[in-house]
Amino acid sequence: MQTPKAPLSWDEYFMLQAMMASMRSKDPSTKVGSVLVDENNHQISMGYNGFIAGIDEAKLPWSKDLNEGLENTKYAYVVHAEANAILHSTRSLENSRCYVTLFPCNECAKLIASKKIKEVIYLSDKHQDKEHTIAAKKIFDLTGIKYRPLRIGENLLQLLERHLKNQVEDL
Ligand SMILES: [Zn+2]
Repeated sequence: MQTPKAPLSWDEYFMLQAMMASMRSKDPSTKVGSVLVDENNHQISMGYNGFIAGIDEAKLPWSKDLNEGLENTKYAYVVHAEANAILHSTRSLENSRCYVTLFPCNECAKLIASKKIKEVIYLSDKHQDKEHTIAAKKIFDLTGIKYRPLRIGENLLQLLERHLKNQVEDL
C-alpha cells in the first residue's frame, strides 16, 4: 500500500507562510515576507518589511523618490523582511533555511551569510539585474550559500482556496 502524501510539500508550506507574512507589510509598493526554518522543518521566526519596531510610523515617509533626499524616503527607515526575521530569532540560525518572497538584497545577504544560514529559497527574482541583487548572489556564491527559486502553481492556490473555504464552511 502506498503511504498517503501530504498535498503540500514543506517548501510550499513555508513559502506560503512567507507569503502570509508579506500580507502584514504596510509598504504600499513592495510587500515582502520571510520565514526561517531549522533542519527539522520547524519555523524559527518570521519577518516582513516595515519601519523600525517601536518607532512612531506616522512620522516616517513611504516615498521612494531619492531626489527628495534619503532622509525623506522609506529607504532610510524600512527594515527588510529577512533582516526582521533574523532580528526576531532567539536561537542559532546555523544551517537553517530562509524562505523569502523576493530575492534578498546585498545588505540582507550580509546578515544571512553572517548567521550561517545555509539556503535561500525565493519566489521572485524581479530585481535580478539590479546591483544589490548581483552583489547578493556574489555574497552567497563566495560563502557557499545555496539559492533556488520556488514556484507556487495555480493548482496549489486553487487547492488552498478550496481547503480554506471548506474549513470556514465547517464552522
Ligand atoms: Zn534586504
